[in-house]
Amino acid sequence: MLYPAQDQASRETLEKSQLDRLSKQLEYVYSSSDFYRQRFDDAGFQHNELKNVGDLRQLPLLTKEDLLADQIKHPPYGGRLCVSEDKITMLILTSGTSGIGQEAYAMTRQDITFGGSAWANWYYRCGLRKGDQLLLTWPLGTNSGPQGAFLGAYKLGANTLPIAPYDTKSKLETYMQKFNPAGIVVTPAYLSHLTVLCEELGIDPKAQFPNLKAIMIATEAYPISWAQRMETIWNTRLFELYGNTQQSGLAAGGCETSVINEKGERGCLHLDEWNTVFEVLDRETGEHVSPGEEGELVLTNLFREGSPLIRFRTSDRVRFLPHGTCSCGRPTNCIEAGTVARYDDMMKIRAQNIWPEAVDALIFAHPEIEEYQGRVSVNHRGREEVEVEIEFKSEDLPEEAKTKLLQTLSEELRHGVGVSMELSEAAHGSLERFEFKTRRWTDERNTGLERVLHTSGGAHKE
Ligand SMILES: [Zn+2]
Repeated sequence: MLYPAQDQASRETLEKSQLDRLSKQLEYVYSSSDFYRQRFDDAGFQHNELKNVGDLRQLPLLTKEDLLADQIKHPPYGGRLCVSEDKITMLILTSGTSGIGQEAYAMTRQDITFGGSAWANWYYRCGLRKGDQLLLTWPLGTNSGPQGAFLGAYKLGANTLPIAPYDTKSKLETYMQKFNPAGIVVTPAYLSHLTVLCEELGIDPKAQFPNLKAIMIATEAYPISWAQRMETIWNTRLFELYGNTQQSGLAAGGCETSVINEKGERGCLHLDEWNTVFEVLDRETGEHVSPGEEGELVLTNLFREGSPLIRFRTSDRVRFLPHGTCSCGRPTNCIEAGTVARYDDMMKIRAQNIWPEAVDALIFAHPEIEEYQGRVSVNHRGREEVEVEIEFKSEDLPEEAKTKLLQTLSEELRHGVGVSMELSEAAHGSLERFEFKTRRWTDERNTGLERVLHTSGGAHKE
């Protein structure tokens, strides 16, 4: 095992290690950044008198808005940057347009090594070993997930094929069938699409991919019945990870018990508490939630060197499961598999984080447009689709002008938010108007995943 000592350690050892590391990290950020020195001093927080990890709660929570304000004051990395610029070896940016602000994370060589190690450890837990063929389908960019997946595969010593640029048919025929992978990293929606395409091409995953030990999924919630169906069709196990930019990759990952436990219920994702302090807080009271309850995940990086975070609010809604819940015996607390959601309206589409505000900004930049509505779904072929209906202000706009505008906007959206959308015109006066809180988007992907029906004899199309 890569980290047997950690997996077999007692809860007491883990908590002792956290306190020791946290003391060092707090001293590090206090002495290295004006931003944290100011925050600690404003709160009257004596970081060198830390008695237990819970003392962290004397500090206020840190929000995305705090980070963006800091970056505006001290561009481009903010006053929270803890290293000199010559130590930065990579940059991670949250997705979004400059209009709504992108958080910038400076990564040092140590940060990159750390991110890769967390992933490598998780791959190992999923059953992958050195030399195993591993296919990565997430496109590499400035977001942290795909980079972590690649760096972890390299660290593990897996035989790695990053196949994101190729279309799904090539992925299946040129790469999967030829190389017979031991593991594949996908989103749930993309796995549905691969499954449907297998059916269309006459490929039986069970027979064609006998070496497959693990299908690794992340980024979206999914119905448990869908997970069971996928495990049957592919004759392997599904493993989930939860990650975010603020954690620099992997924050929690499933273990040998998979996403469905022995009782046929949703499994556990073990929080990476060796490297991070996690709190799951009630948004109303700010208190830690009880076992089994949902709350917002708040994190404090214990090792991050370039742009560390202390008590950052992720806006991710998770169900807290204390250590001892999972039958594997690891000492770490967990969150429930398959149900991580958002408190705000950020959407994860094709492994990209999409903010409705970013879409609003691009669409309403055209004065001819009155209102719009968006819908994210999984179609009958398992493909994720984004459809946007546009309503024009004037009924008298010539057809030619409308067509041209929709084409231009389509390109702007693809470049601006990184996801292709199908644009169409809505009848005049047909779309709901929003006076207060806007709800322009609907997400019907769970229904779509359910629709990918299969029998024991293979998939069948609707
Ligand atoms: Zn476990």
